[in-house]
Amino acid sequence: MTDTNDALFSRARAVIPGGVDSPVRAYGSVGGTPRFLVEAAGAYVTDAEGRRYVDLVASWGPALLGHAHPEVVAAVQAAAARGLSFGAPTPAEAELVEEIVRRVPAVQKARLVSTGTEATMTAIRLARGATGRDLLVKFAGHYHGHSDGLLAAAGSGLATFALPGSAGVPEAVAAQTLVVPYNDRAALEEVFAAHSGRIAAVITEAAAANMGVVAPASGFSTFVAELCRREGALLISDEVLTGFRAAPGGYAQVLADAGETVVPDLVTFGKVIGGGLPVAAVGGRADVMDMLAPLGPVYQAGTLSGNPVAVAAGLATLRLADASAYARLAAAADAVADAATAALTAAGVPHVLQRAGTLFSVFFGAEVVGGVSDYATAQRQDTAAYGRFFHAMLDAGVSLPPSAFEAWFLTAAHDDAAVAQIVDALPAAARAAAS
Ligand code: PLP
Repeated sequence: MTDTNDALFSRARAVIPGGVDSPVRAYGSVGGTPRFLVEAAGAYVTDAEGRRYVDLVASWGPALLGHAHPEVVAAVQAAAARGLSFGAPTPAEAELVEEIVRRVPAVQKARLVSTGTEATMTAIRLARGATGRDLLVKFAGHYHGHSDGLLAAAGSGLATFALPGSAGVPEAVAAQTLVVPYNDRAALEEVFAAHSGRIAAVITEAAAANMGVVAPASGFSTFVAELCRREGALLISDEVLTGFRAAPGGYAQVLADAGETVVPDLVTFGKVIGGGLPVAAVGGRADVMDMLAPLGPVYQAGTLSGNPVAVAAGLATLRLADASAYARLAAAADAVADAATAALTAAGVPHVLQRAGTLFSVFFGAEVVGGVSDYATAQRQDTAAYGRFFHAMLDAGVSLPPSAFEAWFLTAAHDDAAVAQIVDALPAAARAAAS
């Protein structure tokens, strides 16, 4: 048989480094052979061996409505039939940005790019252009894509593989990034005091979700925003993962609903706004955004930026993501989170489940049961226990993220049947984690 996952992995490894085009897909930290997927619909994915799984990866976030929503696919097909790429402005680009502006008060203007990495890269260049300063502050464990300056203590794949950072980043570039512990007010104040007048921006995930889910402590986001304003630095809120997922208006809305209104200068988006195709965006204050070429001196461009097929997928996704879709997503997240807590507790597995809006993840191990508010604590979780849990779930037909440092992604397509399959699989997986 040439189409087993093992055979496909061997073949891929011969020509693709590690057999994958993004590291965490390789199952490196959970062990075993990655499932090669050939089809996905709603809450389910199917591998090359014809096995179907309830999916909790959702393409790492974009599939808010579930996979291959028929209306999104129809919008993509219609756009593709009109032309794949023009390299000229198209009417739908402004429609997509209008949808973002409507949902996120901090965004007055936005530019479309193709990946979250590009969005954060551009946001940082804009902040440097706007302030005339060079230094950037990021939080340990926050992931903002794989551009050189952002790979220090970056969570996600680096956390999964226990890498402190990446080789190949010049020291001079790394030195422009100052890393401070998340949720640590004093550390942030110290870094501003030590580099007074030299910090262009603080970049933060709106709620951290690439070291497991770690929400900002109450008042922390406001503190960061006020400190930035006082010090003349810009605040960049990275909502690539949380945007249009944690809540209809992203994590900014979760904060606002809790009485904490934070208005960042720049916001980055990705994942959901492309509905599964490559669209991301950087947006924010009009005066800062207007510093981008062709209006201003900060250069940014992209052959495929605002690609019409990708924009059609994003626009259809956001238009379908109405209150009832978010209600279904929230109900599924609540049901799975409650069942996971119950199963792990019943099996005596030390753990803590942390949430940020509809996002959540589970940290395993006695070292973390008190809660995780920073990267140092997140790294003390029991990844071996997660590996056992992951494989037991996979054997029962539930595909979790192949890393303990990722959120569990529900979708609006996780109906009662899909949730029941997950809930039924949890007790045995919890016992496997305990063993
Ligand atoms: N920012 C955050 C918060 C992310 O979660 C990610 C990807 O996971 C990125 C940026 C990078 O996005 P992309 O993978 O599209 O480059």
